[in-house]
Amino acid sequence: MAPELEGKLPDLTEAQRAAISALSKDDAVIAAPVWLAQRAHVPNDAIERQFASQDPDGFWREKAKLVDWMKPFEQVTRFEPPRHEWFVGGKLNATVNCIDRHVFGDRRLKAALIWVGEDGEEHTYTYNRLYREVNRFANALKKLGVRKGDRVLLYMPLTPEGIISMLACARIGAIHSVVFAGMGTQALRSRIEDCAAKVVVCSDYTYRRGKKVPLKPTVDEAVRDLYGVEHVIVHRRGSRPGDAPFTFESEREHDFYDIQDGHAIHCPPEPMDSEDPLFILYTSGTTGKPKGVVHTTGGYLVGTTYLARAYYQITDSDIYWSTSDIGWIVGHSFIVYGPLSAGATIFTREGVPDYPSPDVTWELCERYGVNVMFTAPTAVRMWMSHGGDAPSRYDLQKLRLIACAGEPLNPEAHRWAQANLVGQSKGMVVDNWWQTEIAAPVLGTLPTFDARPGKVGKPVPGADVAVVDAAGKPVSDGEGGLLVIRKPLPYMLRTIWNDHARYEKYWSQIPGVYTAGDIAVRDRDGYFAVLGRADDVMNVAGHRIGTADVESALLRHPAVAESAVIGLPDPVKGEKIKAFVVLRKGVPQGPGLVASLKDHVRQDLGPIATPADVELRASLPKTRSGKIMRRLLKAVEMGQDPGDVSTMAD
Ligand code: AMP
Repeated sequence: MAPELEGKLPDLTEAQRAAISALSKDDAVIAAPVWLAQRAHVPNDAIERQFASQDPDGFWREKAKLVDWMKPFEQVTRFEPPRHEWFVGGKLNATVNCIDRHVFGDRRLKAALIWVGEDGEEHTYTYNRLYREVNRFANALKKLGVRKGDRVLLYMPLTPEGIISMLACARIGAIHSVVFAGMGTQALRSRIEDCAAKVVVCSDYTYRRGKKVPLKPTVDEAVRDLYGVEHVIVHRRGSRPGDAPFTFESEREHDFYDIQDGHAIHCPPEPMDSEDPLFILYTSGTTGKPKGVVHTTGGYLVGTTYLARAYYQITDSDIYWSTSDIGWIVGHSFIVYGPLSAGATIFTREGVPDYPSPDVTWELCERYGVNVMFTAPTAVRMWMSHGGDAPSRYDLQKLRLIACAGEPLNPEAHRWAQANLVGQSKGMVVDNWWQTEIAAPVLGTLPTFDARPGKVGKPVPGADVAVVDAAGKPVSDGEGGLLVIRKPLPYMLRTIWNDHARYEKYWSQIPGVYTAGDIAVRDRDGYFAVLGRADDVMNVAGHRIGTADVESALLRHPAVAESAVIGLPDPVKGEKIKAFVVLRKGVPQGPGLVASLKDHVRQDLGPIATPADVELRASLPKTRSGKIMRRLLKAVEMGQDPGDVSTMAD
C-alpha cells in the first residue's frame, strides 16, 4: 500500500483518539535483555542518533564506509525538495558489495544462501558459487543485448535463480523489476508495459501449499503482442518425473541454464553512478494504477547495509531468515541486498509459514539454527492462533531476535511472541516501520532500549520523523496526526517510474516534508505508534472510524486470532461496520460469542465503533506479504466484481 491522500488530510477519527488514549495509559514495557544490548552493533542508540542529527553529513559519510566505492563521492547529499541526491559523484556496483568483496576477502567459502523448498529440497550457495552463477547469467544477459539502464522484469518465486537474476541485472547495470510470482496476467502485463521491459525472466512453476502452480501461461498471455519484449528466459523447474515435455512458444524464448552454456564465470561489474537506478518495484496506490517506485544504487546500499547490521543485528556468525519474498520490498532490502552486502548467511524457504503445518517454521529454525528472523505480524497472529505448544516442542535457543514489520503489531501478539518464540533464548521481539517507498526501517525498537508493545519504537539514527496536523504543524506528544519525514533519507525513493508528478505529491501534500500516509502518535518518551493508514477510514453517522482501530480492538478479545473490518453502505448512518473474525484455536463458537465480541468493541472504543455484523470465518483473504484484502471482502459483500485477486496468498 502506498500513500496517496490526493489532497485529503483527514482529521483524526474518534476511534483513533480512543486508541491513542488507551496507548497513553498502557506504558507496560518489555525490557531489553542486557546480553542483547551488550552485543548490539550500535551500543548506544542515543549517541548514534545525536551524531546523526548534529552532523548528518558526517554521519552518512561514516556509514558510506560500509560500502566499497569504485570512485569516491564528492558530496554526501544535495536536497532541493522534492529532489534529493546522495553520495553525489560516487561510483559503485551493488554486486561488488554483495559478492566480490566477500569472495576476494575472507568469506569465499561461507554460505551466502541456504535455500529450502516447500518439499524440503535444499541448496546451499557459498559466496564463491554465488559469484560464479551471477556472473555467468550476467554474461548471458549481455549476450542477449541487455545493456545498462535496460529494464528486465523478473516473474520468479523465491528461488536461488530468482535472487541470481536480480544480482545478474545489478552486475551489468540493468534495472530489475520483480513482480510477485502470484500476480495475474493483467497486473503483470501492465508492469511490463509501464517499465518497457526488454527481457522477462520467469519460472515455469511455483509451489504453493503442496501444489505445483504454473506461471508460464500467465507470462505467455501477458507478453502476447508486446513486441518490445525481445526475450523471455524460462527457469524450468518442472522437469520432474511424470511432467509433460517443455515446449518453447516462440523464438524469443530461452532456457535459463542453456543460455549460460559456455559463458565465463567472470563478468566485469558495471560502474554505476550513486544515483543510477538499481531497481523499480511496483506497489499499489489508491488510483488502481501501479506505481513503479524507483530506488537508486548508492544511498540504497548504504542504508540497507547499515541497517542490516544496526537494526537487524545480523553478524557474521548468524543464520538470518526473512519469511518475506523477493516480490516485495522486504525481499529486496532484507533478503538480498542488505544482508549480502553485510556478508551474512541468508536462509530462505519457498512456501507459506503454516504449510504443511504451523510447526514447519520452528522445525526449520531448530534444524538450521536460525538466530535472527524477520516476519510479519500476521504470521505471528497465525502462530498464536495455534497456541504455544508448537514452538515449545523445538529447540529455539539460538533464535534471539524477531523483527516484525508491514502492519501494526498488536500488543497481544507482541507479548505472545516474546514469551513463546524468543522465550527460550531470552531474546527480543521488535517492531519496525517502513514502506516500499522507503526501503529500510525509519522507526523501530533496538535491543538497546525497552520495547513498548503497541508502539513501533523510535526514529532510527538519521531519520527526522514527526507527527503533524493537516497544516504540517507538529502536534503535542500523545496527540495523533500524520506521520511525516522532514528530511530525506539515502534509502528513500527518488521518483515514480514514468510519473514524476506522482512522486512530487509525497512532498507536496504538506509542503517540504514527506507524507507517509499513516496516522501516528508519539509519546513523551519519543516512542511512536503507527495506528494505520490515513486513507483507510470509514464514516459512520458522521464519525470517522479507522478499520485498524476496530481490528485492534477485536484482537484484544481473548477469543480472537485475526480480524478484518470494512465499511458497508447504510441508508441511515452512511456506513456500517462489518467485522470478519478468525478465532484462536480451540475457542468454541458458543451462541453468545458474537454478542461478546460486539460488546468488547463497544467497551473498548464506544458504541459508534461497534460492528453491526460480525462474521466468524476459518481464514481471511490475504496477499502473500500478509496484508488483509479488505477490498476483496468488501466487493464480495456488496456483490461487486472483486477485480484483480492475483496477489492473494491462496
Ligand atoms: P508496503 O509499502 O506495502 O510495505 O506498506 C507500507 C505500509 O504498511 C505503511 O505505510 C504502514 O501503513 C504499514 N506498516 C508497515 N510497517 C508497519 C508497522 N511496523 N506498524 C504499523 N504499520 C506498518
